[in-house]
This record gives sequence, structure tokens and C-alpha cells, in this order.
Amino acid sequence: MDLALDAVDRELQARARDFTQQVLLPLEDECEEHDGLTPASAAAAKQAVLDWGFAAINHAPEDGGQGLDLFQQLLVEEQWGHATGALWDIPWRPSIPLAAGTEEQKERFLRPACRGERRDAYAITEEAAGSDPSMVSTTARRDDGGWVIDGEKWHVTSGDVADFFELHVHVDGDATKATVFLVDKNTPGVRLVRTPKYMHTFVFEHPIFAFEDVRVSDDRILGGIGGGYDLTKGWFVEERLMIGARTVGASTRALDLSLAFAAERVQFGRPIVGFQAIEFMLADMAAELMAAKSMLYRVCWQAARGNADRKQLHALASAVKLVCSETAGRIVDRAVQIHGGRGYMREQPVERLYRELRVDRIWEGTSEIQRVVIGNELRKRGHGAYSDWV
Ligand SMILES: Cc1cc2nc3c(=O)[nH]c(=O)nc-3n(C[C@H](O)[C@H](O)[C@H](O)COP(=O)(O)OP(=O)(O)OC[C@H]3O[C@@H](n4cnc5c(N)ncnc54)[C@H](O)[C@@H]3O)c2cc1C
Repeated sequence: MDLALDAVDRELQARARDFTQQVLLPLEDECEEHDGLTPASAAAAKQAVLDWGFAAINHAPEDGGQGLDLFQQLLVEEQWGHATGALWDIPWRPSIPLAAGTEEQKERFLRPACRGERRDAYAITEEAAGSDPSMVSTTARRDDGGWVIDGEKWHVTSGDVADFFELHVHVDGDATKATVFLVDKNTPGVRLVRTPKYMHTFVFEHPIFAFEDVRVSDDRILGGIGGGYDLTKGWFVEERLMIGARTVGASTRALDLSLAFAAERVQFGRPIVGFQAIEFMLADMAAELMAAKSMLYRVCWQAARGNADRKQLHALASAVKLVCSETAGRIVDRAVQIHGGRGYMREQPVERLYRELRVDRIWEGTSEIQRVVIGNELRKRGHGAYSDWV
């Protein structure tokens, strides 16, 4: 069993690390101070994504993506996860369900999105529908040979910079006909309701949008009527693994910063790293990081090699998201403690990480929902997905 990265993956990892250091990290202070980037910085960052070859790492080259497998995507996203301000979201990754589109849909949505000419936002959540998407009340009904959509979507990440939505709706209000529609943001009837402020600083926003008598044609149905959950599940698997990657990257940075600070900060006549209370916190951070990272790499490796069927991968991705995000929460909490009062200052990356990692236990399914998924797997197929090593 060889756990070493090959030369191609090592080069990719190094390129992602350089991109983070040279492009993303220099933007952190601006992002924090201005709650986002100036148009000039945003345009320069976008150009850098193209120049460095990081546009749409998750899509096939024939659609304009980089064609990276899930293991390679993890190597890249782990590096980007070091950055605060959610700057990792600057390199666009059009959602994976777009690959299920027709040739015409790919031409209109996916390929321009891979080139950076368009941007998507995935809208499922509503005021009354969060963990339980069967509560979605956004509907599509037949009218005049097309469809009329009505509803409201919450927390639409990147909705401010997106120009189209993957909109999860129920056809005729029937949850068994959950369907994803591709809706241009400039379609009459699409309205920005408001742009709430959140705990974290995020390079983009998470607005609320209303869809009022929005008329679209048949060719805006992605997949098919009733195929919504399957598409959304595919999106969840990929996003949950990438949350694992980014939270491991963020945890690594928190540990790096804490080690450096503890070695340099002197109290009671010696560096605080010499106090066992501090050293033990660092030891727990390192050991827990290793456990989370090992699991993340193993599952992404399996996924990249097709060593897990779809259902198993869904169950494994939930475990990865649960463990990596919860571990990151503990690691960054200790990082703030080690930094003392400085750890509470917004100018310090550990403070920003502390706020920013909190959402990783909530979005793309809360930690409780990940446990529900894992529990389902245990009930239906036993614990083999988690305990076997084949
Ligand atoms: C910053 C941010 C960005 C987001 N971006 C997007 C986006 O781009 N697109 C999108 O569609 N959504 C997005 N979301 C929504 C996110 O996915 C939901 O917030 C999340 O799924 C939880 O739903 P909820 O907020 O309605 O909480 P609820 O479902 O109301 O849950 C409340 C509490 O009850 C618990 N709970 C619920 N059901 C169970 C159960 N069966 N067993 C045990 N506990 C349970 C939950 O774990 C939680 O602790 C975003 C959210 C945030 C905060």
C-alpha cells in the first residue's frame, strides 16, 4: 500500500499552495475591511484563476473544466481552505449537476460558467424548508406550454455574483416531483428580497430571492421532472467532500499560526509553548487534524477510483463532512485560546477562521443531518462502509 502522492498530484498541490499564497492570502485584509473585494481586485482575482488554470476544476475538459478527479480536487481545495474571507470561493466550480444537462443546456449554462463568463448559485433552502427539503414550497406549474415558478429561496450563496440559478422546486407542489430548473437571474419575476449579514466575512453574499410568476420553457428542466433529489444529492456529495478538504486546510493554518505564536510569545519568562497546558492543546490539534485528514484522503481516493458505489459514497461523504468540520471547530477554538487577546482581534487570521468555520457545521446539511445519513447507512447496509478496508 503506497500512500505517497505521485508527481502529477504533487505538482498540482504545489500550484494550489502557490496560488493561495500569491493570489488569495494578499486579499484577506481587504476582504475583511471592506466586507468583500473592490471591483478591481475581484477582476484581477478572476483573471488569476484563468491564468493559473483553476477554472472549474470539477468539470470535464470538453466542457471547459480542468477534469480533476475528486482526490485531485481535494488537494487543491485543501490549499485554498487556508484563506479567510471565503476567498476559496473566488475560483468558480460550477455545480456538478450541470454536467447532466442536454447539449443545448451545456452550451448555454455549463460551458460559459466553466470559462468564467457565467456563474451559478444553487437554491434549495427556504424559510420553512432547511434540513427537510420535502417542505419546499416553491412550485412549478404547467401553463401555456411552459412553466410558471413561484416561491422564495434563502441563503443563496454567491447569489449576488451569479447570473443563473439551479432552482430546486416541486412540480405542482408535489414533493415526489422535486425538480431542478435552470433560471436566468434576469428573467422577469426574479426579485432580490434582501441581502442579510452573516457571522462570517464572505467574499460574496447569500441573498434571499423571490420568484414571482417566473415563466420558463421546458428546456430549462435539468435532468427530468422528479429528478431533483438525485441531482441535489450528487451536489451534496461533492460539496461535503470539499468542505472536508477546506476545513482540513483551515485547521492546518490554525495549527501553523498557533505553533508559531506559542514559540514566540513569552510570559512568565519563557515562551508559552513551554507550558504543558499549551503544548497539550497543540498536541490535540495535531492528532485530531491527522485523524480527520486521513479519513478525508481515504474517501476521496476511493471516490476517484470508483471504489465506492453511489449510496456508499453519499454515506462516506457525510462522515467526512461531520468529522472534518467538527474537528476544525475544536482546533480553531484552541487556536484562539492560544493566541489570548490577539485571538479575538479581527486582524488575526485565527479570529476570522473561528467565525468562518462555524458555518461548516450547518450548511450542506447540519452535523445532525450527517448523523441521520450515517444512521441510515448503518441500518440499511451495516457498518462496512466505515469499518472495512478492502
Ligand atoms: C451562510 C449560509 C450559506 C448557505 N448557502 C446555501 C445555498 O447556497 N443554497 C441553499 O440551498 N442553502 C444554503 N444554506 C442553507 C443551509 O444549507 C441550511 O441552513 C441548513 O441545511 C440547515 O437548514 P435550516 O437553517 O433551515 O435549519 P433547520 O433545518 O431548521 O434546523 C434547525 C436545527 O434543527 C436540527 N434538526 C433538523 N432536523 C433534524 C433531525 N431530523 N434530527 C436532528 N436534528 C435536526 C438541525 O440540525 C439544526 O440544529 C446556507 C446557509 C448558510 C448559513
